[in-house]
Amino acid sequence: MHHYPDARAVVRAISPDEAVILNRPHAAARAARFFAEKFPGTSMYAVKANPSPDLIRVLWDNGISHYDVASIGEVRLVRETLGDAPKLCFMHPVKTASAIREAYFQHGVKTFSLDTLGELEKIVAATTTPEGAAAADLQLLVRLRVSSEHSELSLAAKFGVDLVDAAELLQATRQHCDALGICFHVGSQAMTPFAYVQALERVRAAIAEAAVTVDIIDVGGGFPSQYPGMEPPPLEDYFAQIHRHFEMLPISYSAELWAEPGRALCAEYSSIVVKVEKRRSDELYINDGAYGALFDAAHVDWRFPVVALEDDLTQPLADFAFFGPTCDDMDYMKGPFQLPEDIQSGDFIEIGMLGAYGAAMSTRFNGFGATRCFVVEDEPMVSLYTGRKDTRVSDNVVSLR
Ligand SMILES: *Cc1c(COP(=O)(O)O)cnc(C)c1O
Repeated sequence: MHHYPDARAVVRAISPDEAVILNRPHAAARAARFFAEKFPGTSMYAVKANPSPDLIRVLWDNGISHYDVASIGEVRLVRETLGDAPKLCFMHPVKTASAIREAYFQHGVKTFSLDTLGELEKIVAATTTPEGAAAADLQLLVRLRVSSEHSELSLAAKFGVDLVDAAELLQATRQHCDALGICFHVGSQAMTPFAYVQALERVRAAIAEAAVTVDIIDVGGGFPSQYPGMEPPPLEDYFAQIHRHFEMLPISYSAELWAEPGRALCAEYSSIVVKVEKRRSDELYINDGAYGALFDAAHVDWRFPVVALEDDLTQPLADFAFFGPTCDDMDYMKGPFQLPEDIQSGDFIEIGMLGAYGAAMSTRFNGFGATRCFVVEDEPMVSLYTGRKDTRVSDNVVSLR
């Protein structure tokens, strides 16, 4: 892959007519080392946030040895990328029997989550040998439904057993596993450590009610990154609160603490360079959008930091909205995105913090979407891990002038 110092160098070199993805392996490496060294337990990477094999290799090389996979496709991908060494945990609570069977018998996956008795029966049946020998080495984690009220993106509606039904499911699961765990997900981009404190209180209630021995507490994902208008407290505060409340749970003293960070490990990994194709008042028509790397900008009005890459723009910043390139009205990102007032058709923009749920979600709908990737060596626009808030940043929106 071609290396450049930064986005401006890419524009100077190739003046790209299609959106291009810029990757910063050093930023992902730093995030991985941070979690590996500072999270008071095991950090597994939630592959869905960005399944790029290059990224997965960077995380592995920097201390992430466990991977949260949600489909048989992700199981195969991590095995193809990293071989047999990493531990894979199949944490989607609804799986097909054939996916469980292949994961267990062909890929050595022993860890599964579930939120119903039906899924428990499915896992037990799919991991029993044709001769009728039941698996003796399963780690089964019961997914508990918790509140998403402190998070920007809810994960509360779809999965998780309600507290009132948790005791029965925990007791039934205990019969079939070597290690019993409880997991949850507080929702993505949790803006306060209190989200985990609240969830762990619910875990405590579930354990008390079920009166079972619990060996694993998995606090899931949700660790935040930094975006315009979203400034979370330091990750160390999250880790400290989680550790404190984990230690207070009525569990065996050898119990393990796990987490499944997705966003926090890869948000800083990628940005994209887009070109302005047309300007209509305060709306810029750019060549990536809702069907490209900007799904969240379009569908949940997520704001990403932006910077104009031209040297000849002299006006102060103004608020802009973006239209993506497809013929679809929904391909609209209201922002606001702050760019120099005199930006115009033909100018290039870098959009930052797209490593998580961004670059990885790009489609080829309508024939658009970034297909080329480059490595760049400069810092991401903002970083949680350097403590660095760019001096060019106001409200986390970046301008180079
Ligand atoms: C999406 C997901 C994650 C990752 O969540 P982030 O908010 O990106 O950290 C972790 N675990 C499960 C089960 C998920 O569905």
